[in-house]
Amino acid sequence: MRVKSALSLTRRDFLKIASGTLAYLGFSGSLAPKLASALEKAAKKRQPVIWLHFASDTGCTESLIKADKPTPAELVLDILSIDYNETIMAAAGHQAEENLNNAVKRGGYICVVEGGIPTKEGHGMIAGKNMYEIMEEVGKNAVAVVAIGACSFDGGIPAGSPNPSAIIGVREFFQRKGIKTPVINLPGCPVNPEFVIGTVVHVLMLGKVPELDKLGRPKMYYGRTIHDNCPRRAHFDKGQFVEAFGSKEEAMGYCLYKMGCKGPETYSECPRVLWNARLNWCIGAGSPCIGCMEPKFVDNLAPFYSRLANISLPSGDVSADKIGIGMAVATGVIVAGHAIGRVVTGGKKKEEEKE
Ligand code: SF4
Ligand code: SF4
Repeated sequence: MRVKSALSLTRRDFLKIASGTLAYLGFSGSLAPKLASALEKAAKKRQPVIWLHFASDTGCTESLIKADKPTPAELVLDILSIDYNETIMAAAGHQAEENLNNAVKRGGYICVVEGGIPTKEGHGMIAGKNMYEIMEEVGKNAVAVVAIGACSFDGGIPAGSPNPSAIIGVREFFQRKGIKTPVINLPGCPVNPEFVIGTVVHVLMLGKVPELDKLGRPKMYYGRTIHDNCPRRAHFDKGQFVEAFGSKEEAMGYCLYKMGCKGPETYSECPRVLWNARLNWCIGAGSPCIGCMEPKFVDNLAPFYSRLANISLPSGDVSADKIGIGMAVATGVIVAGHAIGRVVTGGKKKEEEKE
């Protein structure tokens, strides 16, 4: 009898991983065996990865350890070759710096960035170097950069106003420096582990970057609003809202829009992919969505438990590219905001009429 080592993926495991990613790409499951072979072949080559940590709380690494298909151990030991990662590597001090320099010289690596980049001198340093210097050195030689979490997307919480360290995201940093390396943005606070695994698997399996929206986010995970897929949507449409935490409406699972839910303007597959190994998610646990996948979510969307008047309400499956992100107070956005307001007040009226 063949005993499978805990850290050795079988053909069946690759098939499961390939099928999982195909589901989000909207491809037929019949392609899974072919793509599983491609993934298995790519895994044998052990794609080198340099994982950089900048201004963040390492919450995205915490999030990633919840992945289960594949597990972080399988990802790190069986599929990728993590040449540098300050959180998990055994090396320290000069040895760690040497590992990083050697990996950059060898080239051919994917760079994963966790955290925003402080652009003021001395505001974020590792081994005597400014974080922005490290980002430039490592970023320009990378095959691609995967920017995980809100912080590497646009600075996230560390870049909240007044942003004393002038922290920015990877894409903006590359634009300022003229670095042409492609950047895949996976925002979220923290990043959804399934989005990271699926994106890495996509790159290894198909040998290319997934289709991105105008903010550099893979459309397979950021193509539709939370509101479009929300299990509470029927309550929204009927005008049934939670007005206070602890109320009977909350116990009945009514819509959280009036409690500040930003689901109508947040593009993410949270309702389908879920969190903690597909166990639950924010709205499922009774919390309004705070819009953590959207640009400058702290400055633009706080206070998180207050309803925003000027939000966009895309009808049907309209992509972010078509309608733009609903933070700017543009005419269309105001009109859409009024539209959602009408649904809310109209719904309330209907409720009152019923009583
Ligand atoms: S407003 Fe929020 S809770 Fe209500 S249906 Fe939309 S996403 Fe769901
Ligand atoms: S439901 Fe909203 S707040 Fe929760 S993770 Fe998804 S985008 Fe972020």
